[in-house]
Amino acid sequence: MAISEDELKQKLTPLQYSVLRQKGTEPPFSGKFLNHSEAGVYRCAACGNKLFASEQKYDSDVPGLAGWPSFADVIDSGAIELRDDNSLGMQRIEVICKNCGSHLGHLFDDETSPSQKHYCINSCALKFDEKKET
Ligand code: FE
Repeated sequence: MAISEDELKQKLTPLQYSVLRQKGTEPPFSGKFLNHSEAGVYRCAACGNKLFASEQKYDSDVPGLAGWPSFADVIDSGAIELRDDNSLGMQRIEVICKNCGSHLGHLFDDETSPSQKHYCINSCALKFDEKKET
């Protein structure tokens, strides 16, 4: 990717940097996109890669996962990479931006999801492009 680690440190807030570049997690129920339902596209906050469409966002009631934005799918499966994550004594699947390698969140099974999948994504790892009126 074109942007350097130093540039990212300048560009991102400390919380964004800790999530995206150091696999951190924002505190539950703290993110700006949790209750956000406008039409548009969610991009990687580090590199701008298109990741999720507003139509793919849904409200999950799964205990422990409801504190972060939930998506049933990605715009393009090529936009992300999935990796086994066995940290913190849990078996999880990590979701990474394929373009810049930044950590976005985790992927879970969710029976309440339209796709049965639950992309549990940190708000601060995303930036939002509002859909332009035509
Ligand atoms: Fe990225």
